[in-house]
Amino acid sequence: MDRFPSARVQSDDIELERSLRPRTFDVFIGQEHIVENLKIFIQAAKGRNESLDHVLLSGPPGLGKTTIAQIIANEIGSTIKIISGPMLTKPGDLAAILTNFGPFDVLFIDEIHRMSPAVEEMLYPAMEDFKIDIIIGEGTSAKSIRLELSQFTVIAATTRLGLLSQPLRERFGIPMRFEFYSVEALSLIIHRNARLLCVEIDPDAAFEVAIRARGTPRIAGRLLRRIRDFVNVDGGNSISLDIAKQALDRLNVDPLGLDSEDKKYIRAIRDLFGGGPVGLDTLSAALCESANTIEEVVEPYLLQQGFIQKTPRGRVLTAKAMDV
Ligand code: ADP
Repeated sequence: MDRFPSARVQSDDIELERSLRPRTFDVFIGQEHIVENLKIFIQAAKGRNESLDHVLLSGPPGLGKTTIAQIIANEIGSTIKIISGPMLTKPGDLAAILTNFGPFDVLFIDEIHRMSPAVEEMLYPAMEDFKIDIIIGEGTSAKSIRLELSQFTVIAATTRLGLLSQPLRERFGIPMRFEFYSVEALSLIIHRNARLLCVEIDPDAAFEVAIRARGTPRIAGRLLRRIRDFVNVDGGNSISLDIAKQALDRLNVDPLGLDSEDKKYIRAIRDLFGGGPVGLDTLSAALCESANTIEEVVEPYLLQQGFIQKTPRGRVLTAKAMDV
């Protein structure tokens, strides 16, 4: 018997999410301004036989930053090495990767705002001149050696653009900001995912899921997979509006697209702090949630949807949030 069934289910879900990733620009839905510009920059770089300039992708989680990075590498026809900022702790980690790179290879650094300052220092000359200085030996016999690298491209992703140092931001010639998806774009993504998952979904059901997906393809994908579970267990394989609504209610996703974390956040400001203003640290303590998660995951959508405002004195609820 599987001792860790829930861990297994979770990893299956992650695998499934990976398999649904669009692999070319042609099947990537939404973020049109990013896609159109990137296509031109890639074509121009290829025409000059140069590496693509470094790309900085920013925006809330689940909007497609990793997906776009992989598509870019595909379109360039190069190999991509995916790494998370906090995993690069020593300059040697970065040197080991870059010295193995071939021409036009891509280094994708997720969560670049969490990379160590020492690695950041080494990244500057690597990005600018395709050179790195490494120290060999210790103490008085230590020597600095300059290594030439192949031309390569860094694609970095961050949910917290404001935490990047100015010099680091300036190293990226192509900064791109991801926006939340429209309900129409999310509906198309849900139809595509349903096709890949071999489940049928009515247009009005897809629209309903899209409304409740917080403008985020990752959430749309998860909701669809959970609804499919309900349908499959009941012996069916097609999702009508009624079935979708029932399943979404059971998943605690309300008609405004707010999930239980959003509601907890809004109700805390309303019931504990009279609607605000309330500071981030105070809220974080009241919700037992890290300030980072609140700023990166919960607030961007609530701000975009006009449920809250950020003021110099703290977060304030708008009239729209009072009935949640
Ligand atoms: P991020 O790196 O911004 O957190 P990801 O690139 O990991 O987001 O995307 C999360 C999931 O959402 C992916 O597995 C992919 O299936 C799906 N996804 C993201 N953007 C799109 C899109 N434009 N079209 C279809 N699916 C998408």
